[in-house]
Amino acid sequence: MPKPLKDLGNCPACGSAEVNAIWFGMPAWDYEQTWPSNAQVGGCLVSDSNPDRACTNCGLTWISPDGNRLGL
Ligand SMILES: [Zn+2]
Repeated sequence: MPKPLKDLGNCPACGSAEVNAIWFGMPAWDYEQTWPSNAQVGGCLVSDSNPDRACTNCGLTWISPDGNRLGL
């Protein structure tokens, strides 16, 4: 299992640090074994308006303010 991603920030709504990165693109069939545990599939459509963070506590999704998009 890959190590979880770091420095994903905190949820702007609830302040939780339980934040997933949303990655876009078509995942490999075995992505659950090769992706970090806190990365989730955002879908195959990519645009600048897609959120790239998701709070696992309250469910909010947002675009990270640093612009550090963690694409494949
Ligand atoms: Zn939250």
